[in-house]
Amino acid sequence: MARVLFCWLAACLLGLVSGQVGAQPSGIVQISPEGHSGGPPTTARVMLLTGAVQGSGQWVVRPVPAAGPRLLLVYHPYSARVTVARAGGPAQTKTVFDRQLDPRFSRRALVFPFEGDQPLVVSVQGARYPLQVQVLGPDEHLATDLVHVRVVSVVVGVLVGIALVVILFWLLLRERVYLLYSATMALQLLYLLCAYGEAYALPGLRELARFGAPGIWTVATLSTVVSSLFLIELADLDTYTPRLSRLLRWIGAWTPALLLVPLWLPWPADKSWFPNVGNLLLLVANVLGLLALANAWRRGNRRAAYALLAWVPLVVLSTARAVQLSTGAPLGPAVEYGLPVVLALAAVLLVLILADRMLAVRRERDDAQAVAERDVLTGVFNRQGIERQLEREMAEARHTDGDLSLLFLDLDHFKQINDTHGHAVGDACLRAMVRASVGEMQHLDTIGRLGGEEFLVLLPGSNRRHARDAAERIRRTIETRCATVADRPVALTLSIGVAEFGHNDTREALLRRADQALYEAKRSGRNRVVVSAAEA
Ligand code: GH3
Ligand code: MG
Ligand code: MG
Repeated sequence: MARVLFCWLAACLLGLVSGQVGAQPSGIVQISPEGHSGGPPTTARVMLLTGAVQGSGQWVVRPVPAAGPRLLLVYHPYSARVTVARAGGPAQTKTVFDRQLDPRFSRRALVFPFEGDQPLVVSVQGARYPLQVQVLGPDEHLATDLVHVRVVSVVVGVLVGIALVVILFWLLLRERVYLLYSATMALQLLYLLCAYGEAYALPGLRELARFGAPGIWTVATLSTVVSSLFLIELADLDTYTPRLSRLLRWIGAWTPALLLVPLWLPWPADKSWFPNVGNLLLLVANVLGLLALANAWRRGNRRAAYALLAWVPLVVLSTARAVQLSTGAPLGPAVEYGLPVVLALAAVLLVLILADRMLAVRRERDDAQAVAERDVLTGVFNRQGIERQLEREMAEARHTDGDLSLLFLDLDHFKQINDTHGHAVGDACLRAMVRASVGEMQHLDTIGRLGGEEFLVLLPGSNRRHARDAAERIRRTIETRCATVADRPVALTLSIGVAEFGHNDTREALLRRADQALYEAKRSGRNRVVVSAAEA
C-alpha cells in the first residue's frame, strides 16, 4: 500500500510541477539518442529519455536558444546515475543518493546548471523507467519546486501526525492493530522520503544512501509486508475469510519478507530481478486484498466495507501509475489530483474503522458487564447489579432532591417449601415471585436479588407512603397469584421491610433500616409490610 501511495504522490507532484512549466524559451528543441540523426526537430516542455537499453543510454539535448543561466532537470531519477556534459566541457555526474547536491533545490530532480545554447550530452545508467527531462530558468524551477515542497510538507505532516497519534493509542491499548497502522504510516513516510531523495539529505536518515536502490526496495517491501498484515488485522480477515487471509499473508507478507534475504545476501550477485518480482507480488497482494475485503464484506463485516472504500481507489490509481511510469505516458489531471483526495479518503476511512473497532470493544464490555450483573435464575439484577443501581439512585435523589424508597423482600418459610416440594419447585417459586412483583412495579422501579430468597426493590420518586402502598400491592399479588406454583399448593407469601432514603443516608444505613423493618414484619407474623419508623 505504501508504494502505491507514494508512487501516486510522485505522480501527483510531477503532474503539478510539469503542469506549471512555463515559457517557450526554456524548452528543449530536440532529444535524440546519440548516434541517431533523429526525426524532424520537435519542441517540448518535458521530454522523455526513451530507448534505453537495459537502463542505460546516451542522449543529446538541444536547448532552445536563450540568454542567461539555465538548468537541465532530470525528474525522479530513482536509482539512475545521470551524467551531463557539453561538447569539450567537464562532465557532471549525479545520483539522488549523493550527499552533496545543490541545497537550494529539492531532490525531486537532479539539477545540472548550464549556460549557452550548445547541445548537452546526457548519459544515464541504471534507469528503470524512461526519465523525464526539462530545461528551465532557475527562478522558474524554484517556483515549481516550492509547490512540490509544500505538498510534500503537508503529506509528511499528515503521516507523522497520524503515526504519532496511533502509536500513542497502541501504548495505551496495547492492541497490535494500532502498532501495525503506525508502522504502515511510518514506512509509507520513509518510502516517500526515499523516493523523493529527501531522506538522503536528512540527518538520521542520510545513512540510507549507502544502500542505494536496494535500500528503497527494502523500505517498499517492508511497507507491503506491514500493510498486508495491517489489512488482515484491521478487517479481521482471519475470521471472515480465512483462506484468502492466509493467501494474502503468504503473498503479501511472508514471501516479500523472505525475498529480502537473497536481496541482502552476496549471492546472487545480480539483484535486478528484485523490483520486478516485488512489483508482481504487490500487484497480486493488492488483488488478494480486494478479494478478501469484498468477501469479508459479503459475510457481514462492516469494517471490510470501509477498508474496501479506502483500498479500491489506491489500487486503481497505483495500477494506472505503474502503467504511466512504464509507458512514459503524460500525467492527466485525474492522476495529478487523485492522490490527495484518495489519501484523505483513506485516512478518514481508516480512522472510522478504528472507531468502529473501539465501539465493538465497548459493546462487548457493556454486554459482559450486563451479564456480570444479572442473576442467572431469575434474570433480574444480582447483588452487585442492584447495589450499583442503588448507589446511582441515591446519587440521583441527592442531586435532584427527589424521593427514593427501598423495599426489602424475603419469602416466608421458604426453606420449608424447598423441603416439602423440592428444590426445583423452590426455584419456580423464586421466578414466579419475581414475575408477579415486576408486574406491580412502575417504569423506573428496579428489582434485584440480594441472594437466596431475598430481594431489593428500588422505588425512585416514592416516599415511604407510596412505597408502603407499592409493597402492599406486591405482597397481595404474591399471596393470591403464587398460592399455587408448578401445580404445587405452596401458598407462597412474603414479608417486606420499607425504608425511605434520607439525603444523608449511606447505603449501609438505608439497607440496615429496611432489614430491621423486614425483621419486624417477620417477628410480627410474616406476610406483611412494615415501614421503618426510624428517620435517616
Ligand atoms: P423466613 O420466613 O424466616 O425467611 O424463613 P426461610 O425458611 O424463608 O428462611 P431461611 O433463611 O431459613 O431459609 C432460606 C432458604 O432459601 C434456604 C435455602 O434452601 C433456600 N434457598 C436459597 N437460595 C435458593 C435457591 O436458589 N433456590 C432454592 N430453591 N432455594 C434457595
Ligand atoms: Mg432470608
Ligand atoms: Mg425467608
